[in-house]
Amino acid sequence: MIGSAILSSRGVIKRFGGFTALNGIDFDLGDRERVGLIGPNGSGKSTFVNCLTGALPHEGKVVFADSDITTMPAWRRARAGLARSFQIPRPFRGLTVRQNIGVPLSFISGVSDQDELNAKANHVLEQVGLLSRADASPKSLSQVDLRKLELGRALAAQPRVLIADEAMAGLSDSEVDEILDLLIQLNNSGIAIILIEHIMRAVIRFSQRVVVFVAGAKIADGDPREVLDHPEVVRAYLGQ
Ligand code: ADP
Ligand code: MG
Repeated sequence: MIGSAILSSRGVIKRFGGFTALNGIDFDLGDRERVGLIGPNGSGKSTFVNCLTGALPHEGKVVFADSDITTMPAWRRARAGLARSFQIPRPFRGLTVRQNIGVPLSFISGVSDQDELNAKANHVLEQVGLLSRADASPKSLSQVDLRKLELGRALAAQPRVLIADEAMAGLSDSEVDEILDLLIQLNNSGIAIILIEHIMRAVIRFSQRVVVFVAGAKIADGDPREVLDHPEVVRAYLGQ
């Protein structure tokens, strides 16, 4: 890890009935760090995100910005600056792009003045490159713009940590690069980011460190090249 931790887990265990989805995860994200989280389908990546963000109760502990947040409800974690985007964007289809940013913005920041809210929403839209589509309906957005809107909704909280869960699935090579550029720019502005991604080229370009989950356990954590050459990681991916 680079620098001091902004987000950590210790011994996180998640069981669904008799099935153990996470088997004691110890994890650290450095302040302003970019970490790639990879693993086969069903290895527990999204479940882990749900534990970190408060969507699922679990055993073990989660610490954010030096506070134990293990029992803090999800909405308070979001307000405190722990943001995530979802695998499948679900914008409010009846609202404009700007209003889609305004909803989380007013909830998180407590701002209710419409002009102030619009100004703040415009700033977020500028960050994600969607300002020119502010008055459009999400229904008219392309896949890549929908992903940007989803990231914008997460950014409304002015987070210190952003967890992007498969923000690039189904995009073309150049669209993947657009989202990567955006994430790296957000990271440069001071946001630590966990990127969950299957596209290895994107993981390599993005990550300062790579963490690998297999069947609910962390099997590798370190330098991207070394981790991806690790025999156990190769086995998990090639199914040998
Ligand atoms: P990944 O994001 O790495 O593809 P998930 O975290 O979505 O994996 O899932 C990990 C495992 O936990 C899978 O076997 C999945 O079926 C199971 N799982 C996830 N959520 C639930 C749930 N709400 N109830 C029961 N099983 C679940
Ligand atoms: Mg997932």
